[in-house]
Amino acid sequence: MRRTLVAGNWKMHGSQAMVRAILPDVCGRLQGVATEVVVCPPFPYLLLAAELLQGSSHALGAQDLYPGASGAHTGEVSGQMLRDAGCTWVILGHSERRAGKCEDDAAVARKAKAALDAGLRPIVCVGETSSQREGGLTFEVVAAQLGAVLDGVGSDLAASLTVAYEPVWAIGTGLTASPEQAQEVHGRLRLQAEAFAPGAGKVMRMLYGGSVKAANAASLFAMPDIDGGLIGGASLDAGEFAAICLAAEGMSWNK
Ligand code: PEP
Repeated sequence: MRRTLVAGNWKMHGSQAMVRAILPDVCGRLQGVATEVVVCPPFPYLLLAAELLQGSSHALGAQDLYPGASGAHTGEVSGQMLRDAGCTWVILGHSERRAGKCEDDAAVARKAKAALDAGLRPIVCVGETSSQREGGLTFEVVAAQLGAVLDGVGSDLAASLTVAYEPVWAIGTGLTASPEQAQEVHGRLRLQAEAFAPGAGKVMRMLYGGSVKAANAASLFAMPDIDGGLIGGASLDAGEFAAICLAAEGMSWNK
């Protein structure tokens, strides 16, 4: 059975005051939940967030890493440093980085391997643009994105990946893939992972991301191959984020 997972991607939002306000509020609302909850604030707030999450069952993640242990890489942060700061998760290959920072599939694959080597659990984002969807290229695009990462980490480590299917046209736009549209892609990705490493596809958690809110979360999470969500905007509101996490409760019974 796959445990449901909800991760909040704060992107480049927040302040110390916001971290101090949101995290105790989230922890208070989510005591005793079975769903795995991960919060991913910007780098400067990781240590503070780690302190505030102490004693809770919720985990801390970062939004990127550099695929090397240390060295002359001005402005970069390694997986080991993230572990040292209290992270156990890292988001990789977000479409905002693929588009804005020219991260290609090979770079995301290197980062995924570096994350696993550092003992972090990567959440690898894949997703098509609206023109790719309109051109009938959705499955081709996401299969290439996932395939590069599977090849990069190898069949022994494939089961340690978490995938987030995030259609680019749904991120921050208020448009959400329908549960059926998302399920169709998740199902294909799971088959691909299973074909690559038998057993891995069955246990690999696959999150949906793209304008998830409390109002649409339950219908998405109820789909057989959707194991939770990667939440952007709504993760900045403690009440909304907690409601999304609660929508995932009990959804893992048959997965
Ligand atoms: C994201 O950035 O990962 C995301 C899913 O954003 P939003 O929920 O705001 O669409």
